[in-house]
Amino acid sequence: MKEDFYEILGISKNATDAEIKKAYRKKAIEYHPDKNPGDATAEEKFKKAAEAYEILSDPDKKARYDQYGHQAFEGGGFGGGGGMNMDDIFSQFGDIFGGGGFGGFGGFGGGGRQRRVKGSNLRIRVKLTLEEIANGVDKKIKVKRKIQAPGTTYKTCGTCNGTGQVTRVTNTILGRMQTSSACSTCGGAGQVMDYRPSDADGQGLKVTEETVSISIPAGVEDGMQLKVSGKGNEAPGDGIAGDLLVAIEEQEHPELQREGNNLHYDLYISFSEAALGASREIDTVSGKVRIKIEEGVQSGKILRLRGKGIPSLNGYGKGDLLVHVNVWTPKTLNKEQREFFEKMSKDDHFRPNPESGEKSFFEKVKDMFS
Ligand SMILES: [Zn+2]
Repeated sequence: MKEDFYEILGISKNATDAEIKKAYRKKAIEYHPDKNPGDATAEEKFKKAAEAYEILSDPDKKARYDQYGHQAFEGGGFGGGGGMNMDDIFSQFGDIFGGGGFGGFGGFGGGGRQRRVKGSNLRIRVKLTLEEIANGVDKKIKVKRKIQAPGTTYKTCGTCNGTGQVTRVTNTILGRMQTSSACSTCGGAGQVMDYRPSDADGQGLKVTEETVSISIPAGVEDGMQLKVSGKGNEAPGDGIAGDLLVAIEEQEHPELQREGNNLHYDLYISFSEAALGASREIDTVSGKVRIKIEEGVQSGKILRLRGKGIPSLNGYGKGDLLVHVNVWTPKTLNKEQREFFEKMSKDDHFRPNPESGEKSFFEKVKDMFS
């Protein structure tokens, strides 16, 4: 039987948001692993409090919990068994204990939990032709990103001596109690700006336009996202730069249609070409190729050009180009043509006579996907 979330935090069901937050803050400080090293019971209580707060601080989840109890979260996502891990819990602390400033905030314990400040990610979209997708392409793209303004200097934060945390010792009836929290001067980063040039913002950064080279592998798809590490916004001080996230947008090809790694091409031939055979040049992603159409070809036939599709992104194999043969029926006829076809329509030779070996449209479709 799982404990009641309200009981874990020691509050009533009518507790306000502020009361929930306050109660959790108290429990988190009380059972923090840095204060209770090696104490499994404290760690368990610490995790339970975090879990209870995760649910009760979210109006949506709270409503579900109030109505259905723990069952509301069983079987999916949360609460089924493992609950939250420590990283989840510490990332929740930004909300509870402040932070802000440079944005880098790693909970309040010592224990090597302080993270380096990371700059924010940038997102761009890149439009690619089908040919570029099939062959892979290097793109040079102009990106507006924040960099540390030349001349900006940072120094160790005097309040926390660079640790990013401040420790407070208070005397309570239970004895001396030591609590740590993020340094409010530097926001947990351990550094503050020393000199700020006139063109720098409050963090010592400024926006510049840079050309970034992006190597796009063959086989990407519309909607995929590539990450270029370190090409997002820079962070102040010793922080590390964020990433540039490149969303792929696939441009429509005038002739070819993509389906997974296969390509489809609709080929239209005339009555005469169908009867006599023909040689036609068609577009592929690796240039034009000439294909031969046998005499007597039927409308609906699919010619498979192996390996003329899109390479798979993992490097194994290539799709095919499927050429769909469509016999074009003239929409109008002149007198002479009409007479010709009238004469031919009585000819036994023009009567449909599919051979038993010829596959129906449905069989062909089945083949294509097998
Ligand atoms: Zn500080």
